[in-house]
Amino acid sequence: MSISEADVQDLRMMERCLELARQGVKQGELPFGAVIASRGQVIAEATNRVSSECDVTRHAELVALSEAQKILRRKRLPDCTLYSIVEPCPMCSFPAREARIGRVVFAISSPVMGGFSKWDVLLDNNLSSKLPEVFGPAPEIVSGLLSQRAEQVWNDWNPLAWRFMRRRGCIGRAAEQTSRHAGAPRPRFSWNALADLLAAPALSVSNVFLRRRADSNTISDLDKPGV
Ligand SMILES: [Zn+2]
Repeated sequence: MSISEADVQDLRMMERCLELARQGVKQGELPFGAVIASRGQVIAEATNRVSSECDVTRHAELVALSEAQKILRRKRLPDCTLYSIVEPCPMCSFPAREARIGRVVFAISSPVMGGFSKWDVLLDNNLSSKLPEVFGPAPEIVSGLLSQRAEQVWNDWNPLAWRFMRRRGCIGRAAEQTSRHAGAPRPRFSWNALADLLAAPALSVSNVFLRRRADSNTISDLDKPGV
């Protein structure tokens, strides 16, 4: 079976999420990691910062989303994918919809707390049909990517806690195959999206972007001056 360039990019970004989750554990956090990427390039990435900042809202997905918006200097991210080792919770899913994120890719499902499998925030078309001024079309969802390796990260963090979470059904079992759920069709043209893009600076001149990327080894040409 051939694998597309898009699939390779998804795998690469999820690999980075697993690395971030392991880094987070070393910093005293739970093993969460998230990446915001566009056209194969990492825009922002984060571990959880709940423990380090004593703030329960500092989930990796929210930290990465917020950072990406600052770096790109626009609220709307229809060209971006949110990657996360675990299915985003509702608290992270609402801002993702508000940011009009184009895709969400995760490894481990969260049937008790998930913003997709439990609360259906991510694919709820009612949000965007009733409040199109606030919420974007439902993103494409890819679930179960590298789920067995992601589970290994959690098991390595704390085998006992992991076993309890599994027994209680808090975490979905490793998927045999990656699942895809199509997002809602997106309008071909939007004045607001055009205004966002025109207002956004070029990626290569974003000092914040370069600073954020300095610690990562997953980026390629955008870090180089003059590109
Ligand atoms: Zn969350």
